[in-house]
Amino acid sequence: MAVRPVRLFGDPVLKTRAEEITVFDDALKATVADMFDTMEHHGGVGLAANQVGLLTRVFVYDCSHETPGARGHVINPVWEPVGEDTTFESEGCLSIPDVHAPVQRAAAVRCTGVDVDGNPVEFEATGLLARCVQHETDHLDGVLFLKRLSPEDRKTAMRSLRATDWYQQGLTTV
Ligand SMILES: [Zn+2]
Repeated sequence: MAVRPVRLFGDPVLKTRAEEITVFDDALKATVADMFDTMEHHGGVGLAANQVGLLTRVFVYDCSHETPGARGHVINPVWEPVGEDTTFESEGCLSIPDVHAPVQRAAAVRCTGVDVDGNPVEFEATGLLARCVQHETDHLDGVLFLKRLSPEDRKTAMRSLRATDWYQQGLTTV
């Protein structure tokens, strides 16, 4: 297991749609284990494969500080809203360090997919985990949360992004 470099805003892999996973082998298990290590190393609540440079549809999450037991991974995730409520809360991203902005998301979702062994995964989520499922699935579609902001909030977020040390230093990974 190992911490892998995290790709940062500006890397084209973050704007590229990841492909469905069809092979469930030891390499996939190692990838998921590394993704957990990487997420934990950076103190994240979620990490999508694009963020470590892989264009495969898998994300890991750990929202257990809010919801006990809410830690896991989903391969080929699909989500749908449960009800029509939305929430508008601050979000951040390991690929856009030091930038936070409010994003409107479905308040509750049902997420389905499979695990590393190809077994079905299905759960309903609210709160942080619901937000995480939507944020990470966006990553797999090549979408960053900046794209979900209102024009005003995007302007503000881009201003703070351009002011970050990593952006000014031209960093592409952390
Ligand atoms: Zn992110």
